[in-house]
Amino acid sequence: MKRRDLLKFFGMGIVFGLFSPYLFSSTEKKTEKRYVMALELKTCWSLKDCRVCVDACHELHNVPDIGDEKEKIMWIWVRPFGEVFKNEFPDLKAKGLASLPVVLLCNHCANPPCVKVCPTRSTWKRKDGIVMMDYHRCIGCRYCMAACPYGARSFNWKEAKNYLRKINPDFPLRTIGVVEKCNFCEERLATGLLPRCVEVCPVSALKFGDLLDDKSSVSDLLRERVGIVRKPHLGTNPSVFYIL
Ligand code: SF4
Ligand code: SF4
Repeated sequence: MKRRDLLKFFGMGIVFGLFSPYLFSSTEKKTEKRYVMALELKTCWSLKDCRVCVDACHELHNVPDIGDEKEKIMWIWVRPFGEVFKNEFPDLKAKGLASLPVVLLCNHCANPPCVKVCPTRSTWKRKDGIVMMDYHRCIGCRYCMAACPYGARSFNWKEAKNYLRKINPDFPLRTIGVVEKCNFCEERLATGLLPRCVEVCPVSALKFGDLLDDKSSVSDLLRERVGIVRKPHLGTNPSVFYIL
């Protein structure tokens, strides 16, 4: 949806901060690249109950299926639009959007609160914008989980291998007592591949690239269409955009 059409659809009262992409705020440390993800919601919604990206990511990264809501591990997950954007878009019921699914993951924020609170520097922002984890340095204090306003981090309460149907020997298992989250498939990017979720989406709803590269397809897309982000008022400057 173009900016003008979106304003018409939701009314003029919606928060203008939703209209990203803004690249960096004045307080943010600039990076050499800014990898971002853009999800075309209508395209995603064209497939009912699709979870291909979630399953493929979790299988690749040995994310265990714990079952218990309080202890589950999530790198990528799905919540209803009405819950994800309830503050930004009032009156979603009337628009028929409230129950539609939104794929969520770590936002690899340009201004990540999780990084600021980590006492062991186990989590940090790379020069390409990816917010990384070093599982060997993590002491499991969970400050980062408390600081992340998006619920994007999970704590390992249990032995992952007991909850995996199949183990991918090419990706490390995490131990009990450490925090984990999406890594934008940095291991695949290093070999020239796209993130697994982007690769497997049957309708190509997910796009990925460097927002600082004017010629990237993701830059084009976000110039042309409106990308909204989660909780823009917090100033975290997410790198995952949702296109209506
Ligand atoms: S979404 Fe959460 S975990 Fe990811 S970078 Fe932002 S604050 Fe950190
Ligand atoms: S749980 Fe690990 S990554 Fe998170 S703040 Fe503590 S040491 Fe850092």
